[in-house]
Amino acid sequence: MRLGAQLSAMPGFEAVVEEAGRAGLRALQLFSRNPVGGKGQLIPPLPRMKALLTRYAIQPLYIHAPYFVNPAALEKTKHLNAKTVLVAEMRRAKQLGGDYLVLHPGHFSSPGQKEQAWDRTYETLIAMLSAPGKILLENTAGQGKELGADLADIGKLFQRLGRTHRIGLMWDTAHWMAAGHPLTTQADVDRGFEAIDQTVGLARLKGIHLNDGEGAVGSRRDRHAPLLTGPLGREALKALLRWAETLDIGVILETPGRDISSRQSDLTLVRNLMAEF
Ligand SMILES: [Zn+2]
Repeated sequence: MRLGAQLSAMPGFEAVVEEAGRAGLRALQLFSRNPVGGKGQLIPPLPRMKALLTRYAIQPLYIHAPYFVNPAALEKTKHLNAKTVLVAEMRRAKQLGGDYLVLHPGHFSSPGQKEQAWDRTYETLIAMLSAPGKILLENTAGQGKELGADLADIGKLFQRLGRTHRIGLMWDTAHWMAAGHPLTTQADVDRGFEAIDQTVGLARLKGIHLNDGEGAVGSRRDRHAPLLTGPLGREALKALLRWAETLDIGVILETPGRDISSRQSDLTLVRNLMAEF
């Protein structure tokens, strides 16, 4: 299975790929820059990144877009800024040898603005598509006025965008539970995949953010937790892994911590469960 993790790129992009590879990861997610602001660090030449990714058979490499821009911003300057930053992120993702740029759809600020906010996200994505590369939109916890907790909304946006091969879904299990869906049993997991199939189409699911949550199901709180310490059930976790293996998609641990050592117990748990198959 393409098991991977979100790791901090602080040690440098090449160093972090080395570290992931030596730890046996087969997928990886990195921020291309500090997610809350500041300059991005230097990107190594693409052939060197590609050689490392090939040597350790790491694929896909997901690049996570920063949080400091809002793709759904209604205010003109902020929206323009989001488009500029995210188009540049598309280029950085490509330069890093990334397969996908992952982003959240954004948020609005006052009630009644939801439709307009989705229009802004649509425009942002159109701008991003002017650069080469593929985009994954992530389902969210629906915290505050965050877009994307409802897969039907994401499905509608996908229909409007077309370009099936360049836009897909990153499914976050902690966000899914926070948005009100239990993941306790095999049936819960099957229902999740069915919902994905009916809204965006299973073929467009290109990765799973495998996280437990801190809050209860339906809490709408976006707080990740180590596996099996929150509402995620052991049976559901096994079912998720089986689905991911069947679909041959990347599974990224975004549980607390920034490096391999902090995720070691989650990695071991997943590997032990896989060995039971
Ligand atoms: Zn996530």
